[in-house]
Amino acid sequence: MPAVHADPTAAREFAFEVVARLRRAGHEAVWAGGCVRDELLGHTPADYDVATSAKPEDVRKLFGQRRTLAVGAAFGVMTVLGPRPAGQVEVATFRADAPYTDGRHPAGVTFCGAREDALRRDFTINGMFFDPLEGRVIDYVGGQDDLKEGLIRAIGVATMRFGEDHLRMLRAVRFSAGFGFPLEHETRRAVEAMAHLVESVSPERIAAELRTMAARPGRGQAISLLVETGLAGPVFHEFHQHDAAFWRRAAATVDALDEPSLPLLLAILCQQDSAAATRLAHRLRLSNHERKLTQWLVAAEHAMSEATAAGELAEQPWSILQPWLGHAWRFQLADLRRAVAATTGQGSEAASWVSRQVTRPQVELDPAELLSGHDLLALGVPAGPDIGAMLKKLRSLQLDDEVTSREEAMQKIAAWLASG
Ligand code: ATP
Ligand code: MG
Repeated sequence: MPAVHADPTAAREFAFEVVARLRRAGHEAVWAGGCVRDELLGHTPADYDVATSAKPEDVRKLFGQRRTLAVGAAFGVMTVLGPRPAGQVEVATFRADAPYTDGRHPAGVTFCGAREDALRRDFTINGMFFDPLEGRVIDYVGGQDDLKEGLIRAIGVATMRFGEDHLRMLRAVRFSAGFGFPLEHETRRAVEAMAHLVESVSPERIAAELRTMAARPGRGQAISLLVETGLAGPVFHEFHQHDAAFWRRAAATVDALDEPSLPLLLAILCQQDSAAATRLAHRLRLSNHERKLTQWLVAAEHAMSEATAAGELAEQPWSILQPWLGHAWRFQLADLRRAVAATTGQGSEAASWVSRQVTRPQVELDPAELLSGHDLLALGVPAGPDIGAMLKKLRSLQLDDEVTSREEAMQKIAAWLASG
């Protein structure tokens, strides 16, 4: 889960306190998984997870009804709420997953000891515990060695682990690209052999992985790895026909973004194919905002390339460019234009021009309308489609500086009415 806390120091202190309290009550308790990996790497963990021998009901008693949430209690996970700057800590009872029958979820969980809990985790670097009271790493899976060497290795037999939960293959790519650690040989072979199975992973989980990949450093490498391992086909099957050169360029463009996001990544991959973008956004169940932004960016890219084909952007009528360069999403478009120019070596002057336009004052980019529909009715334009069409024509003239005042606008309307 993404971090909700604002203050890493407070989060760490609270996670320490949670472990200390469980231990004082006689339970085993340690930090687990991603936070251990991140601390050993010298990174600030996004959040802290605690693993414990205490059962969910013990956790609830110890921290109190009001400071705990039982959303994940069926899997042995309790959320313990800290003071506001610290956020919350997930406290999970040591567990083993019952066999997966569908490649997606375990049929249930059974509580067990720390070692088994480590063995159910996905990759060795994610399978370590840390005892914050004694400052000691507890490593049943060889995570420290792989972390030193910089390898993403499945815990146990890779094909079996990916067979249990197909999403782990996308996680392998995400961690490999994010940390710049190659996939260990057997782990990589297993992904290559089983890549087609990600088809059956729920679209929400796929989208969540892509969202994280898109936003983090190594995002270009993530694209390359998806392609090399054969995951790109099933994940992006709306537009699988790209060649190797396309993917290389797309990966470089994604890396060159200043403000990366899933919509920008998808817009780059969809390459002006709005039908593909729409199908992909629906299939992955993106949020409305993400879907609309993706579609808008794809359409904007198309409009920009048409305008570029007609000549220099700066020479084009502003009324054609303004709907894009005056839009609330113009900064994302400028970022995209710049990243594309940086990686293709083409259109960098046009991209700079776009960047300058989008930072002009809002009143210039999107000036107030000179006349309203009511004004047109008052001037004698009959109610109906004429109103919208005239407003639109007027807007173009205004944006192109051909009509600059209310009076001129009224004269235009009068002239149009007179000419029928
Ligand atoms: P991030 O920094 O991206 O949050 P993370 O390692 O904390 O990385 P989470 O998805 O938050 O990843 O999961 C926490 C831990 O739970 C992981 O470190 C791993 O030990 C375990 N885990 C998560 N998802 C799976 C999975 N699909 N299969 C096995 N273990 C998993
Ligand atoms: Mg995490």
